[in-house]
Amino acid sequence: MQTQLLINGQLVAGEGASHPVFNPSLGSVLVEIPEASTAQVDAAVLAADAAFAGWSQTPPKDRARLLLQLADLIEAHGEELARLESLNCGKPYAAAIGDEIPAIADVFRFFAGASRCLSGSAAGEYLPEHTSMIRRDPLGVVASIAPWNYPLMMLAWKLAPALAAGNCVVLKPSEQTPLTALRLGELAAGLFPAGVLNIVFGRGPSVGEPLVRHPKVRMVSLTGSIPTGASIIAGTAESVKRMHMELGGKAPVLIFDDADLDAAVEGIRTFGFYNAGQDCTAACRIYVQKGLYPRFVEKLGEAVASIKYGLQDDPETELGPLITEQHLQRLEGFVERAKAQPHIRVITGGKRVEGPGFFFEPTVLADARQDDEVVQRELFGPVVSVTPFDDEAQALAFANDSDYGLASSVWTADVGRAHRLAARLQYGCTWVNTHFMLVSEMPHGGMKHSGYGKDMSMYGLEDYTCVRHVMIKH
Ligand code: NAD
Repeated sequence: MQTQLLINGQLVAGEGASHPVFNPSLGSVLVEIPEASTAQVDAAVLAADAAFAGWSQTPPKDRARLLLQLADLIEAHGEELARLESLNCGKPYAAAIGDEIPAIADVFRFFAGASRCLSGSAAGEYLPEHTSMIRRDPLGVVASIAPWNYPLMMLAWKLAPALAAGNCVVLKPSEQTPLTALRLGELAAGLFPAGVLNIVFGRGPSVGEPLVRHPKVRMVSLTGSIPTGASIIAGTAESVKRMHMELGGKAPVLIFDDADLDAAVEGIRTFGFYNAGQDCTAACRIYVQKGLYPRFVEKLGEAVASIKYGLQDDPETELGPLITEQHLQRLEGFVERAKAQPHIRVITGGKRVEGPGFFFEPTVLADARQDDEVVQRELFGPVVSVTPFDDEAQALAFANDSDYGLASSVWTADVGRAHRLAARLQYGCTWVNTHFMLVSEMPHGGMKHSGYGKDMSMYGLEDYTCVRHVMIKH
């Protein structure tokens, strides 16, 4: 198992305290990895800063060539990376190899091409005898901080646009799930010029904070929780760094009487429980119109009860464990408090699975009310709430009554209603008659407390550049 950091093109052991990395399916320690020391964080940032002059001046086609090679490497080592990811996250191997590896390679390929097609306003003489033109230039050193739910995918969403745009990166994976990032560091070590890509390991306070606060870091890109985002914004305010924040979500799902009931049930079964619900876009806050409500709850209960949880290598497994014992206990707390409410019905699931791993039963909580904790808070586990509504106005009001603003979906046969709601939902994405589907060409990112900045798409690439004006006097 590769546990070394990548600093200035060299693989080096961390010099800080050791931190355990778990297999959450068994609750056992896989490996202890020493964190980066503060001096190593400093060295990584200085290496990235030193590499910037060369990398930023490398023609886009040559940067693209290396990103395409990295995509090929990821595919060539796909089985190994998918095994590591499923071991470290507990996620089904079939999902890691079938869904994630192809999407990860595609993100690198998309940004390789996109870096050659940046656009801007037309150059022209907006002042007589002066020609103005627009440039889009990289920013410098980007500190990328990734979460544990899709470790390699989030790494790709961060690295690909940052490097494609000509920035140099110091990436810190989650201390819970560093294995694929550290292996990728080894694969990429000989590919990029020294210092262009650096990977450090460690916890938020000991490694993340010195990294994001480093004076040479010009931009911080975080995918993580709202408290972490708020703390990074506050902690770096004095140095006025550019921020790219992808924070939590609590996606509303509006299902109308005219929706295709079977498709909606199947959609929630899939998209509410994918990655054990540890997904910021999970279809978890379900609102159903009253005419359909009783049948929907019954059918959803049956469908969710049929979800197979188990070990990551079992091809039948659809649902893995939660990431840590602590996260499992947090989820248990939410569900126990919900069960104590007399109006909430547990349709299926509702408790942790006895055994060594961090499993929770796939759970449906019906008759939840708008102000219930399980409707308002991000649970980040295999638990969905279902709430009835009367009409379109009430559905919209319920959906927008949230601090979150990442993703939403509308299930209806009425195309006019779909457009009306898509225009009014305060979410970075609205799906109609589906949920969760992402493509590299389209942006992913939030509003309100879910953050700002876009991953993927040309918008994502632009976020990692600065728009500049050059004016020439004739
Ligand atoms: P987290 O906020 O606990 O940790 C995220 C990362 O931040 C980790 O690498 C952690 O070490 C680091 N970190 C923590 N404190 C830090 C500090 N003070 N300074 C610098 N770095 C620090 O989040 P998590 O538990 O790993 O991930 C789950 C959260 O991520 C959920 O809220 C989820 O919704 C969110 N998420 C959002 C998206 C999105 O696209 N919007 C995608 C995936 C996950």
